[in-house]
Amino acid sequence: MQYHSTRGRAPAVDSAQAVLDGLAPDGGLYLPETMPVLDWQACVRSQPLEMAEQILSAFLPDIPDMGELVRRAYQGKFEAEALTPTVPVGDFTVLELFRGPTSAFKDVALSMLPQLMTAARRVKGLRQPLLILTATSGDTGKAALEGFRDVPGTHVCVFYPDGGVSQVQRRQMVSQQGQNVTVCAVRGNFDDAQTGVKEIFSACQGRALPFRLSSANSINIGRLVPQITYYFKAYRDLLDSGRIRMGDTVNFSVPTGNFGDILAGFLAKQLSLPVGRLICASNANHVLTDLIRTGVYDRRRPLHKTASPSMDILVSSNLERLLFLLSGEPAPVAGWMAQLSQDGCYTLPQPLLAQVQAHFWADWCNDAQGAEVIGRVWRQYGYLCDTHTAAGWFAAENYVNQTGDTRPMVVLSTASPYKFPGAVLSAIGGGVQGDEFSQMALLETLTGVNIPKNLAGLREMPQRHTGVIARDEMLEFVLALCGSGKEETL
Ligand SMILES: *Cc1c(COP(=O)(O)O)cnc(C)c1O
Repeated sequence: MQYHSTRGRAPAVDSAQAVLDGLAPDGGLYLPETMPVLDWQACVRSQPLEMAEQILSAFLPDIPDMGELVRRAYQGKFEAEALTPTVPVGDFTVLELFRGPTSAFKDVALSMLPQLMTAARRVKGLRQPLLILTATSGDTGKAALEGFRDVPGTHVCVFYPDGGVSQVQRRQMVSQQGQNVTVCAVRGNFDDAQTGVKEIFSACQGRALPFRLSSANSINIGRLVPQITYYFKAYRDLLDSGRIRMGDTVNFSVPTGNFGDILAGFLAKQLSLPVGRLICASNANHVLTDLIRTGVYDRRRPLHKTASPSMDILVSSNLERLLFLLSGEPAPVAGWMAQLSQDGCYTLPQPLLAQVQAHFWADWCNDAQGAEVIGRVWRQYGYLCDTHTAAGWFAAENYVNQTGDTRPMVVLSTASPYKFPGAVLSAIGGGVQGDEFSQMALLETLTGVNIPKNLAGLREMPQRHTGVIARDEMLEFVLALCGSGKEETL
């Protein structure tokens, strides 16, 4: 199966190469030339690991032994065999995506990506091991570390902004175990760390290094495809509980940042899963709500820091894939992306906007509205949700109220409430005091909801990676890593 760039100015590659490359050389994102064909009903009837195997094999046919890769990625690593369980809450069904090894939704994709990358490396006969470089604002770094930990043929190096991640997130990263992991703080904010990583990539281009540099960011097709599985799994759970019959359509509400999660839902729909509306939920950084309502994408606005930081994004990369899939040709997509980088905005033509609106609906909430949802859902249903999930719930309620569409609604839950203990505590009326670890303990006492195992032991874990460097030291840091002979042991 051939993969093409959304911008149309790069050669087609096979699926293994697309996974290895991440970004296409023309700056576009890879998509298959034609949508793979899948027996969706057979897929729905399968066990979660088999679902993942079928979907991944359909999209990435050049990567062999998919069943084995899926087992290595997921088996025994998630809290439950269901991987992503669903919970009925009031009129909605919550799809819990945070039951992985780091209690982050990112685990679903980042457990699988290392397996896909190393398999693609074997297929392509690549001699050098992979050095994965990632800048993180919190969750991605830890999920990448855990996903790549001790995966043969890889070394993973994560940079996070010093003082720019939560206490829990920092502890999760600095306590990381494994033989092939490096973690380092960078003085500055997330943008500094990210710019630093980009500079390393361009400085190393054409250099003979013992590693092949690669990234784990969410534009890689190997991160997107594993996320399709949980839409099938949620559908299966609704069938099993008798809420729907085979063929009934289901709506999904998705807390959205980079547009990867919700795009996976759109791909599930392309594979014929009966998906109705996809509700795109945002916070005060509501660029996507505006786009879906008006057709105008305008990033020229201040970035707000909110209680749902994983959605504090003004440029949602994966939207480019949707625009390509709906418009069917690369030239206009390349044009809009050029406008976005030059002028900071672009406008979709009316027919394309109508298509977007046929599949998607959008809304956003501010922090106070999100807190109101967390408190109300807790009091009414005894279900504790986090700040991102609250945005999804908020948008789902408004969707039902404004459209009268009463088809079953699945709200995707992207983080454990224990990832944001202060905001959640205050939303349910608890007093917020002490550090995040005391807040976690208090939240557990007040609600009886257990702290996930991997977070509970964190405070006592030895801190192994405590280095801090300046941004202009990052290249040297990576070159030193490359010169340390580490690749010999991988
Ligand atoms: C990454 C993330 C999101 C957004 O997902 P995208 O695929 O970037 O849209 C939402 N919530 C949480 C907690 C996340 O970590």
